[in-house]
Amino acid sequence: MCGVAACSPMGPNDELLQSLRAAVGPSHVLTDADVRASYETDWTRRWRGEAVAVVRPASTDEVIAVILACAAAGAAIIPQGGNTGLVGGSVPREVAAGPQVVLSTLRLRDLEPVDVLAGEVTVGSGVTLAALQAHAASSGFAFGVDLGARDSATVGGMIATNAGGIHVLRHGLMRAQLRLSVAVLALTTVGLTALPVVLTLVPATRELSVLGIRFPWLVLGVAVYPSAWFLARWYTRQAERLEQDFTEVVESP
Ligand SMILES: Cc1cc2nc3c(=O)[nH]c(=O)nc-3n(C[C@H](O)[C@H](O)[C@H](O)COP(=O)(O)OP(=O)(O)OC[C@H]3O[C@@H](n4cnc5c(N)ncnc54)[C@H](O)[C@@H]3O)c2cc1C
Repeated sequence: MCGVAACSPMGPNDELLQSLRAAVGPSHVLTDADVRASYETDWTRRWRGEAVAVVRPASTDEVIAVILACAAAGAAIIPQGGNTGLVGGSVPREVAAGPQVVLSTLRLRDLEPVDVLAGEVTVGSGVTLAALQAHAASSGFAFGVDLGARDSATVGGMIATNAGGIHVLRHGLMRAQLRLSVAVLALTTVGLTALPVVLTLVPATRELSVLGIRFPWLVLGVAVYPSAWFLARWYTRQAERLEQDFTEVVESP
């Protein structure tokens, strides 16, 4: 004799589902087909696939636990923010080699206080653009990126797609807003401009001449100006290429 539950055969994904429930709590592992449907269908309704479950972690630790559970089961993870990406990247594949799990970031919506001195803010990847804009505005700042899907598109999705939007020519793409990009650009600019100044201050290099030209001036003309031009050109080309790709995808039938 045995009870019904004890005798039920285990489904192929039951172990994975158990681990996911342990990771984020049972109420945040969505398995009902009707509830999953909106997460499994792309904004354009052109792409659709089936997931074993939609999981909704609320912290970095929970995200890690979900990733470990999926890795142990050999399940593919599809990160999903606002599901407004338009190109099917945020939904499960229609044909897949193994189980697929949608990792919804919508509960990762921490908004840390705006650092008004640095002009920076740290937010969760599931924070919507509209929420970020409102949060920045409450401290007197404007966020550099804006687009029509602002009420649904999330920070994580916008970074993943390097979103452009209506201010792209003025403020650049989404990844240009990240602290690392800004820091790298600032450091490169400071480094390039400071180099000839440093060479002028050091007596050994100040007196040095090559073909009658003072070394600091030579560095300025041969290294600094061309590098600055090259970097600016590269940055513009990347922005143009990404915008072109985006336009082609949106305009394709
Ligand atoms: C009305 C409308 C207007 C739009 N206007 C513009 C526009 O002007 N410019 C523009 O560039 N785009 C635009 N888009 C496209 C879309 O809004 C952007 O691509 C946005 O960045 C997607 O964000 P999301 O949170 O919806 O991402 P999703 O659609 O959920 O995901 C997009 C991709 O990012 C991945 N992803 C999502 N979150 C994460 C994460 N946390 N970590 C890792 N990967 C992740 C997903 O797996 C997927 O591959 C528009 C879309 C709509 C519907």
